[in-house]
Amino acid sequence: MDRIDLLIVGGGPIGIACGLEAQKKGLSYIIIEKGPIVNSLFNYPVNMQFFSSSERLEIDNIPFISNEAKPKRNEALEYYRRIVTSNNLRINLFEEVEEVKKEEGLFFITTSKNSYRANNVVLATGFYDLPNLLKVPGEGLAKVSHYYKDPHYYAGQKLAVIGASNSSIDAALECWRKGAEVSLIIRGGEVGKRVKYWVRPDILNRIEEGSIKAYYHSEVVRIDPGEIIIQTPKGQITLENDFVLALTGYMPNFEFLKNSGVTLSEDANKLPTYNPDTMETNISGLYLAGVICGGMETHKWFIENSRIHAKIIVDSIISTTKKSNNKKALSDNA
Ligand SMILES: Cc1cc2nc3c(=O)[nH]c(=O)nc-3n(C[C@H](O)[C@H](O)[C@H](O)COP(=O)(O)OP(=O)(O)OC[C@H]3O[C@@H](n4cnc5c(N)ncnc54)[C@H](O)[C@@H]3O)c2cc1C
Repeated sequence: MDRIDLLIVGGGPIGIACGLEAQKKGLSYIIIEKGPIVNSLFNYPVNMQFFSSSERLEIDNIPFISNEAKPKRNEALEYYRRIVTSNNLRINLFEEVEEVKKEEGLFFITTSKNSYRANNVVLATGFYDLPNLLKVPGEGLAKVSHYYKDPHYYAGQKLAVIGASNSSIDAALECWRKGAEVSLIIRGGEVGKRVKYWVRPDILNRIEEGSIKAYYHSEVVRIDPGEIIIQTPKGQITLENDFVLALTGYMPNFEFLKNSGVTLSEDANKLPTYNPDTMETNISGLYLAGVICGGMETHKWFIENSRIHAKIIVDSIISTTKKSNNKKALSDNA
């Protein structure tokens, strides 16, 4: 394949924003996505509602019309898919990038289907592929999931939901409303402060009235086929249990970052190295975009505040290319 200006790894909202910007500015580019368009959003819970209002999820000022101020997952799928199709963005779906290697000023990219050569690469791979594991016995049982999709599945079942953030609280409320018996297991002393402001009172009221049983300052010790054992301030207790939703967050694929040459901070946050003015990493021509920039601080970047990365990156590529062309012209003339 011919050498292209830019290869974008990941067709989430921010990878798509990068592709759109590259197209507008006349760069040759391709987006490589291992799943369907906006794979992470596709895998979100079916009834999920964003905390952002729709105009804050827009890319390139293309209007995002939603029924309510805060759009639902299915509306976001429509929006981002239409951006891809109506702009004829170059995107290869169901193709996974396996390796990004730089040699003699050029990137060589190997995927599950092909190989590419590019002058620049953007990693926009998000954080939704790798869950933070509980690391307790029984976590591998089929009844345990780190992803929540649809409340219908849990009707009439004894369900333990682990976590106190938006994902776990949404799941606990929805499943309880569809007839699950829900226990909420929370490591800290309260429901997360970042839980959507219109959802927080709902869960607090359900806990107070005893509809959902919350165990604060509690952690899972072990999961057995018919039970879950938790450590509470009052000692270890055993709950009858059919299903566990361990919604304790996700993390970026650090191995992929490291293998691509990106250095990470040595503290627990594992922040990837990049220049915030250009989004370029410690490898010249290799850029980061979207939520991946936050390392373990996955709440720091989201669509709202990272959609600007596309323009920053494409401007940086264009200005670097101009500078190197000028340099070459000067040395050719010398
Ligand atoms: C439940 C939930 C609710 C949220 N609500 C909001 C909200 O209201 N507002 C907001 O701004 N943000 C919200 N976020 C965060 C937001 O969804 C993410 O910030 C957003 O998806 C980030 O976009 P991204 O393009 O950086 O990453 P992603 O959307 O995760 O896209 C990364 C893409 O890269 C692909 N990929 C990964 N590895 C490879 C590979 N090796 N090869 C090829 N493709 C690869 C993945 O399949 C994926 O499609 C929410 C997140 C969650 C989990």
